[in-house]
Amino acid sequence: MGGAGAPVIEVAGLTKRYTDVVAVHDVGLSVQAGQIYALLGLNGAGKTTLIRMLLGMIAPTAGSARVLGATVSAGQRSAWARTGYLVEAPAAYPELTVRENLHLYARLRRLKHPGRHVEDIIERLAMTSYSARRARTLSMGNLQRLALAKALIHSPDLLILDEPVNGLDPAGVVEIRTLLTGLACEHGTTVLISSHLLAEVARLNGRIGILHQGRLLAEHDADSLDAHRRRHLKVSTRDDATAQRVLRDHGYHPGPDLLLIDEGAVVRPEKVATILVEAGVPPTELHLVEEDLETYFLRIVGADHA
Ligand code: ATP
Repeated sequence: MGGAGAPVIEVAGLTKRYTDVVAVHDVGLSVQAGQIYALLGLNGAGKTTLIRMLLGMIAPTAGSARVLGATVSAGQRSAWARTGYLVEAPAAYPELTVRENLHLYARLRRLKHPGRHVEDIIERLAMTSYSARRARTLSMGNLQRLALAKALIHSPDLLILDEPVNGLDPAGVVEIRTLLTGLACEHGTTVLISSHLLAEVARLNGRIGILHQGRLLAEHDADSLDAHRRRHLKVSTRDDATAQRVLRDHGYHPGPDLLLIDEGAVVRPEKVATILVEAGVPPTELHLVEEDLETYFLRIVGADHA
């Protein structure tokens, strides 16, 4: 274990190059104990590759990673006992029941009281109603939950989850969110997840790293994200053509539908209102429109037209 305050995950210059693509390019990041860190990226951004390197499943081309105080090297998973992960498509023995799958996994993990851990996780993940069903009969969402149960069965200090809410219905998504935030807040579990859903990761209240084409473009805390989103002032009048002209005469740059992106308009909407009133085209409506999270994300990854 690292000293007090040492990051649980520390990555420097991490790079993975395949023949024709750089899947992860010079990524550096650190995750503190008890923090939730979400790697956010579109398909192919490099999330899974980065996670696989952290877990020692593949070797980096360059750079290094330390996890729970130990340097990760491919094939040698020193942090394995204290880490839970979900990184492949969820897999289970199809002919075994949910409970049997978990028992098998608990024994593989060499847990002292496997039965106790199994019952505990079945209850925590609300799996009781289908715990006696064979895995092959499960819906995608419940299979995903079984995979999460495996990741959590030994109460790990660090959880690494690749797209953990894939396949879950909205209620399942909320449940997993509650579970992850509870683990971080109450048990001090460190959580690294990957996702392509910005609105979802913003709700985790952790740190967000935006990965695009293998590069870490930006890092935000969930609340600082707001400050980076564009705001516009939407104006409505009974004579938009006149209002357009008046606002242009006053140095604003109204877009179509009288959408003002000028900082001055966003900060001082009352000034816009006064100008319009004095010009005889009073606003019938004035409101601040905030860029939605998905638009922000696509803008900063430069994929507006993707
Ligand atoms: P997704 O959500 O679609 O899984 P991702 O963000 O997890 O996306 P990766 O799976 O890490 O992205 O892939 C990043 C890039 O590396 C992609 O262009 C992918 O095609 C490429 N890549 C991944 N694994 C390999 C491999 N074994 N050989 C060659 N290219 C690979």
